Amino acid sequence: MKKETFVTRETAEKIAKKYPTPFYLYDEAGIRANAEAVQKAFAWNSGFKEYFAVKANPNPFLINILREYGCGADCSSMTELMLSEAVGIKGSDIMFSSNDTPFEEYEYANRLNAIINLDDITHIDFCEKACGGKLPETMSCRYNPGGKFTLSNGIMDDPGDAKYGMTHDQMIEAYKILMSKGVKHFGIHAFLASNTVTNDYYAQLAGQLFELAVELKNKTGADIRFINLSGGVGVAYTPEQTPNDIAVIGAGVEKVYNEIMKPNGMGDVSIYTEMGRYMLAPYGVLVTRAIHEKHTYKEYIGVDACAVNLMRPAMYGSYHHITVLGKEDRPCDHTYDVTGSLCENNDKFAVDRKLPGIDMGDLCVIHDAGAHGYAMGYNYNGKLKCAEILLKNDGSFELIRRAETPKDYFATLDCFEIYDKL
Ligand SMILES: *Cc1c(COP(=O)(O)O)cnc(C)c1O
Repeated sequence: MKKETFVTRETAEKIAKKYPTPFYLYDEAGIRANAEAVQKAFAWNSGFKEYFAVKANPNPFLINILREYGCGADCSSMTELMLSEAVGIKGSDIMFSSNDTPFEEYEYANRLNAIINLDDITHIDFCEKACGGKLPETMSCRYNPGGKFTLSNGIMDDPGDAKYGMTHDQMIEAYKILMSKGVKHFGIHAFLASNTVTNDYYAQLAGQLFELAVELKNKTGADIRFINLSGGVGVAYTPEQTPNDIAVIGAGVEKVYNEIMKPNGMGDVSIYTEMGRYMLAPYGVLVTRAIHEKHTYKEYIGVDACAVNLMRPAMYGSYHHITVLGKEDRPCDHTYDVTGSLCENNDKFAVDRKLPGIDMGDLCVIHDAGAHGYAMGYNYNGKLKCAEILLKNDGSFELIRRAETPKDYFATLDCFEIYDKL
């Protein structure tokens, strides 16, 4: 499928006049339409809730847009909890799905009345202490079936090699212990494959979790209130991939629900999701300007963004589509490596990429960066993180996070004498 951008060269240049490149640009209309489609796809389940995975994009403006569609927040750290609290997401609208969890984070999650999703059976006592000796009434446990997880289209992941979750027997044991400690209502959570570009993932995962739910109910008598399918729904990063259809995904889960949950008297159990990537990735782009060309053993285009702004290509070799604004319809008859300025040879947004001829000053749009993009940024080479801008429904734009300044970068040196000279 041809990949198109939501921003024209004209608009991007207008924004760049006010906020210099590089910057992240988000598409409000796209975010809204998608959030609505997600709600519609699961409307058959009256308790459905999407807990947006804050780690994918911790920007309060964007989280607030998602809230309008009923989304809560899935948090995994202290600052994610703090951010959710600050934007007014409260109590059971916060899912705390962490692992290797520090004591203070359980303490804090409990104080917020968040739903705590335990990663391990050994966390039960640890969490109980953090909760001042009394566990919350509703809790969840994370399941890891081990082995390999394979989908019909060949997508595979390796739960047996993942650090997350409890074994089947530990799950049953954990629910018994939790019940003996006074926990009354339960959820089940699992995340078995990442970035699945297939409509089958959630349904297959749901089948496994529904069967486990029935077994848990029968063996322990636990009152199961929700099944949390977590994240892992992918987006089509490459033009060759077919994007997921959330309506088909929702209907697939409904079918399995009707087959397994309803006949077992569990037709009132809520479905929760914790999507991050699927909620925002396609609706955010990194806009960057070509500032150098280099002709050595290969043809290079140097842009003013680098892996600090978008780490996925450097970290995982991920493909992110690139559009040269104003040249959308030109033939891709040049082959470039598109690089950033880090002193790291993996700082390349694209390798051997077919693109139209790029002139210095051209604006490039790096696609599908709205999730796990800005959020993964770091400060290697003393590079600063860029601004985030929202392109609104009415065509206007708004700064939703300013760019870092050297002062921000040096802020943690304030205990040194040189600080005043920085
Ligand atoms: C990362 C993560 C998510 C979100 O994953 P996506 O692939 O972005 O949808 C959800 N839940 C947990 C526990 C996670 O770690």
